[in-house]
Amino acid sequence: MPARVLKSALSVSSAALVILALSALSTGALRATADGSAAPFDSGIVSAPLAPGGQVRTADPIKRGLSRAEFPRTIKITDNVYGYEDFHSAGMTTVTLFVVGTDGVLIADGQGSPAATQKLLDAIAKVTPKPVKWYIVGSDHGDHTAGNAVLPKDITYIVSKASKAQMKLDVPAMTADRQAINVGGIEVQAIDAGRAHTGGDLLVYLPKQKLLFMSEVYLNRVFPAMRSAYPTEWVRVIDTALKMDVDRFIPGHGFIEAAKVSREELVEYQNALRAVIAEVTRLHKMGLTAEDAVKQANWGPYKDWYLAEQQGPIAVRKVYEELEGKLK
Ligand SMILES: [Zn+2]
Repeated sequence: MPARVLKSALSVSSAALVILALSALSTGALRATADGSAAPFDSGIVSAPLAPGGQVRTADPIKRGLSRAEFPRTIKITDNVYGYEDFHSAGMTTVTLFVVGTDGVLIADGQGSPAATQKLLDAIAKVTPKPVKWYIVGSDHGDHTAGNAVLPKDITYIVSKASKAQMKLDVPAMTADRQAINVGGIEVQAIDAGRAHTGGDLLVYLPKQKLLFMSEVYLNRVFPAMRSAYPTEWVRVIDTALKMDVDRFIPGHGFIEAAKVSREELVEYQNALRAVIAEVTRLHKMGLTAEDAVKQANWGPYKDWYLAEQQGPIAVRKVYEELEGKLK
């Protein structure tokens, strides 16, 4: 078994090297195009999320062939719909979605500090002069909300009951599982599909564009981060998402992928969640304490995912809580 593991690790790393080299080439080529291209605004917008399928599948910008100087960046996903990626202090990207309607701009998730969220607003202003009017709380965690003080004072929040309580927001919470927002010409739906990463998670669906922004329900190639999660319910929320009429899934951390890769990676993310739950359940059944389970946990291929060392022990404790009925 160890020999097989080693062999596959070696072949993976040599394949990764080849892909890395290819990706460095394609990134260089793209940069050259972007420099000379006729972008409508001088905003550093790239028209596609890099070479589809040609990217290293990782949340690590360096392995992906990107330098820090390339962030934040705005990615045009489709007409009037943009992704915005900026660096998180942990070294991966935090993703905001923004939708430009005829009546104003809707933001799904912010960034982690007033300065970072101001940069987001500046990037939006390069795309449209329209005011930012709506904000959907996909995740109530600070790395997505701690900059919200710089948002327009009259902004309309769309927030689940749990996230409203978590954020101590003095606004009405959603009263149904689904709320449609017409931003002018584009329908956006906030969907409460159940508890996942925060317990107040909302998905953001654009039915006509077949696009689903999943906030922290989808952490592309980031080890399942479970500090405030509901592990098995999280798996089910992803099931719901995968059954929706969606072409492209947008993560809350990690990179925005091309349509086909985005679905493959969401399936892989669900695999990672299942694998983590299964491994911790195995250790729990052996009668180990959570502390010993942390030491013995074998994450298989997911040990190489971003933040695995930091998030592994947290996941063990959370799955233990769930298994022992302590997670209400
Ligand atoms: Zn986060």
